Amino acid sequence: RADSPVVVVANRLPVDQVTDPDGTTRWQRSPGGLVTALEPFVAGRGGAWVGWSGSAGGAPEPFESGGMQLIPVGLEEEEVDRYYEGMSNASLWPLYHDVVEKPEYHRTWWDTYVQVNKRFADRAAEVAGEHAIVWVHDYQLQLVPAMLRQRRPDLTIGFFLHIPFPPYELFTQLPWRSAIVEGLLGADLVGFQRPSAAANFVQLARRLHELPARGHTVEYDGRTVTARAFPISIDVAAFDELASSPEVLARAKEIRAELGNPERIILGVDRLDYTKGISVRLAAFEELLEDGALEAPGTVLVQVATPSRERVEHYVHMRETIEQQVGHINGIYGSIGGPAVHYFNQSMPREELAALYRAADVMLVTPYRDGMNLVAKEYVAARGDLGGALVLSEFAGAAAELKQAFLVNPHDIAGVKNQLVRALRVEPAEGARRMRAMRRHLFKNDLEHWATSFFDALRARA
Ligand code: UDP
Repeated sequence: RADSPVVVVANRLPVDQVTDPDGTTRWQRSPGGLVTALEPFVAGRGGAWVGWSGSAGGAPEPFESGGMQLIPVGLEEEEVDRYYEGMSNASLWPLYHDVVEKPEYHRTWWDTYVQVNKRFADRAAEVAGEHAIVWVHDYQLQLVPAMLRQRRPDLTIGFFLHIPFPPYELFTQLPWRSAIVEGLLGADLVGFQRPSAAANFVQLARRLHELPARGHTVEYDGRTVTARAFPISIDVAAFDELASSPEVLARAKEIRAELGNPERIILGVDRLDYTKGISVRLAAFEELLEDGALEAPGTVLVQVATPSRERVEHYVHMRETIEQQVGHINGIYGSIGGPAVHYFNQSMPREELAALYRAADVMLVTPYRDGMNLVAKEYVAARGDLGGALVLSEFAGAAAELKQAFLVNPHDIAGVKNQLVRALRVEPAEGARRMRAMRRHLFKNDLEHWATSFFDALRARA
């Protein structure tokens, strides 16, 4: 029904299709913060969520779930290859992450990206009520704002980019750069993770399209488009509570014991992605062992590297490199029953992660580029005891907020080593002071604050 006052448009629906042992399929609410954050604004008011089900094939019929109208968008196998794995994850993902790996550009991928964006925009145009508010999400759907505005000029349209937005010099590589900028300019409000990303976008509109632009705004087509930072966050109170529950604390103690009660535990938790700088971390750790600044097994590194995008070649290659590096370090510095690096190519449940955060003396987060990095925020939220220290890349969005972390440039191995040693040796009072300041910031800027600020700013434009 075309009467939803609020519509969310995202690549994925807030539900996953699961198959029970008896072969019947049903929809199950997706885990994850974004769904929890947006649901209150969409549910209960006849709001709608437009998204892909996650598997190739025709679109299932719209249905109701959790007080929301869910509008599935169908994608054929070839569209998944070209729009999702190709254009989104092999062109835009590396380009927007500072070309850490070389992006590939293919015209067939782009054509499918346009076609699929049109399909999402059409579904949203059909379901949105008169003067509705529509919030479009992320790099897979950057053309939707303009396509939607063309069909429905009555709507108030917001867009949020969850990943970084590159500077002019990189963005202009993109053969379809103008179409993307025009797509985004279809929105009234364009949100980014960092102020510098919003500034990159405004500069692009000014230099590439010669549009009048100043501060946070661009004048386009007789409208004012606002570009601002809305740094995403986590449910800080929930994470804090989970991490201080008796079960998690007991598990944290058990983890320390299972690791052989080392003096120091260093922890990394990432999706296995080339943007995350996992190799840098291993190299810094190895050099410190080699220098004798650290000793195994007194100090151990636990690295969780969750499998990701395993059909893309870069990811397969990167996994091999990292696993070789781990094997190399353990070969030299490990002992029987006592590896120096504990490596897990597995996905860990939230409770286990919380216990790991609580057990770790130093959390090592070294992406070359990251939109936000929620792991860094989760670590801080988990440390209600004010223990532990965070080493954080300047190139993660989180660094713009967590200023009391031990900040590092992941391209500078000597710098990473220095900061890691400082973090390992920080005086408890100094460590607690840093942790307290970061926690104060996070409790004020949680996930609900993020969603509310964006919706408020968008409504103000209606
Ligand atoms: N995560 C998880 N299990 C794992 C590894 C990660 O549940 O084994 C979660 C982690 O708690 C965090 C998210 O995945 O909430 C990763 O978000 P982040 O912003 O750090 O990186 P992204 O994967 O989105 O690039």
